[in-house]
Amino acid sequence: MSGVTDLSRKIEKQLPGELVGFMRLAGGMVQGKGQQLCLVGGVVRDLLLGRENFDIDIVLEGDAIDLARELSDLKPGKITTHPRFGTAKLQWDHWSVDLTTARAETYAWPGALPTVRPAAIRDDLFRRDFTINAMAIELNSGRYGRLFDVYGGQNDLKQKHVRVLHEKSFIDDATRIWRGLRYEQRLGFRLEPTTLRWLKRDIACLDTVSGDRIRCELELVLQEAYPEKILNRARELGVLSRLHPALQGDRGLAEKFEQARRMRLPGLSLIGLYLALLAYFLTREENERLISYLRLCKSAARTLRDTIDLKARLKSLDDPGLTPSRVYVLLHGYSTSAVAANFLAGDSPVACRYLDLFLKELCYAKPTFGGEDLKKLGVSPGPRLKEILDRLLEAKLDGQAITKQDEKDLVRRWLGGEYSGGDA
Ligand code: ATP
Repeated sequence: MSGVTDLSRKIEKQLPGELVGFMRLAGGMVQGKGQQLCLVGGVVRDLLLGRENFDIDIVLEGDAIDLARELSDLKPGKITTHPRFGTAKLQWDHWSVDLTTARAETYAWPGALPTVRPAAIRDDLFRRDFTINAMAIELNSGRYGRLFDVYGGQNDLKQKHVRVLHEKSFIDDATRIWRGLRYEQRLGFRLEPTTLRWLKRDIACLDTVSGDRIRCELELVLQEAYPEKILNRARELGVLSRLHPALQGDRGLAEKFEQARRMRLPGLSLIGLYLALLAYFLTREENERLISYLRLCKSAARTLRDTIDLKARLKSLDDPGLTPSRVYVLLHGYSTSAVAANFLAGDSPVACRYLDLFLKELCYAKPTFGGEDLKKLGVSPGPRLKEILDRLLEAKLDGQAITKQDEKDLVRRWLGGEYSGGDA
């Protein structure tokens, strides 16, 4: 069968048996109805590249919701449908599959959300971002496993090229600029020269896209294994400065991201830390503009604000004579990612030592002697009790109380005449 690429063996080899069984079932079901069913998107690209990807997107030339309902009778699982978009999700214990009605898209103006209409698979592939993502594998039982590659995706995989499908692609949807850089750097590909020319020409179109959509793309960038590569390329091409003109992305960012990955602190959000490192050199005002442009969620906004606030206060940590309890007071309350960002990006070795000490030890310190113990010694709940707990923590941090007995002795001393003789 010259000219036909049969991927059925690759599918069997690389995808979990349960999903393969499901796809064969679905392929058999549509065969009798004269509809075309295809596996599409990233999973096809990754099957050809031999990369793991179990994100199953299936497109039907026909009503995908009807098909999903019929299939869920045969292989029961949770079904979620979105009639407005003609999509359905089927979920079982370990896997899920997205089924979509094939559609074509048109854009009323640059950056507008697309107007969609049901269409053929070929049109559905044409609305996609890059040729390497615009291939399909037929699932109909008669043609199961055949690659459907009308836009040259397979050749671009061989050439290691990220290529758009048409000249207006970035104008229609400028989020594809970020997506292109992400695939380029993730896969070790290059933007195909004409695509690169159009990308540079259309960079200003990034301003036609909402901050929300840009934030989603940025989050995907930061979830990659090496986001610094993408950010660096974005800086080179003038894409990064569209997030904020003051964003640099250089000054050792790659090294800091690498160190960030090695930190592995409990409860630390790596994405939050990356974002904080990216925004580290912004002023307060610039930082606020970035937060509102990207419409960051509360916790991400707090991380960025904490980072910049702490940067401004680092001078107070640049004193070799600080006690651990003083360091604690200065740093307590800042988000962990903000402290970590200042540790990685701050330029005072003395302050960095304290930040490290805080992250590794001080932030976990807690007196063994608690509120209940104090009550047993006759301290009634209220500000006095809180004050004693704070002093205990201070003593613990500064090595003046090591055991619970040390803490108890200190409390008794502080209480002096107040001590009622209770036994904690
Ligand atoms: P990843 O491996 O990063 O998850 P993916 O290729 O699976 O990548 P998704 O973001 O899950 O990408 O999107 C699924 C498919 O939808 C893509 O492969 C692409 O064909 C298409 N797609 C997603 N976003 C766009 C877009 N902005 N413009 C055009 N097509 C898009």
